Amino acid sequence: MPLDDPRPEATGASSVAPPDALLELVDELNARMRHHSATDVIRLALKEITPIRLVSSFGAESVALLHLAAMVDRDIPVIFIDTEMLFTETLVYQQEVAERLGLRNLRILRSLEADQKDPDRTLHRSNPDACCALRKTAPLQAALNGSNGWFTGRKRFQSGTRAQLEFFEVEAETGRIKVNPLAYWTPQDVADYIDENRLPRHPLVARGFPSIGCAPCTSPVREGEDIRAGRWRNTEKDECGIHFVNGKMVRTGEIK
Ligand code: SF4
Repeated sequence: MPLDDPRPEATGASSVAPPDALLELVDELNARMRHHSATDVIRLALKEITPIRLVSSFGAESVALLHLAAMVDRDIPVIFIDTEMLFTETLVYQQEVAERLGLRNLRILRSLEADQKDPDRTLHRSNPDACCALRKTAPLQAALNGSNGWFTGRKRFQSGTRAQLEFFEVEAETGRIKVNPLAYWTPQDVADYIDENRLPRHPLVARGFPSIGCAPCTSPVREGEDIRAGRWRNTEKDECGIHFVNGKMVRTGEIK
């Protein structure tokens, strides 16, 4: 499949096996980028997958991908989902980073139904999957309507479900291509990049939060624990929704 062939239209329909041509395209992109840098992956994605967006939580490590992308193109549409359950520190940090990096196309989105469906903001206690679907996944899918792909900051080291992550993968239920330029980065790579570029750190990192999501569902991590141990602690949940990748159902979709 030539790289300039149009991607399937993103419909948001329920999951089906992705077309072979799309899987072949993703395999080809991964093969081409096997020995290339995150910046090369971003450049190739911007050329071959249009329109494309970048989704960021402005969390603990987000500034690395945002900086890499801004160095290539400050006009990349950057989507920030404000679940209205975030730490105040995240909201302040989001503004600081956007200003520092000169992001020119930042879009902040919130659920249109949260007030009606979760008026007392307690859904996260009784049904966190439903809460994530309402406050994260639905606004995200709306934000991605009309796009053929999106960048995420997910990395292989972050958890078992991400251990096989590639630079490019198919999101079967939408036909979009998910691009993970930092898939092969280690925690040290991220820390070095942030330090060497003197980028601002999320203030909660210094207070024991190596992974930062919504305030009610994020706790500090103790020494020796997995970096995501503080997310939905004492539950089996470790990602924000059920998604389909390359035709297989996995818990994924976390945005970094
Ligand atoms: S992380 Fe918690 S508060 Fe945030 S959307 Fe998911 S369940 Fe709700």
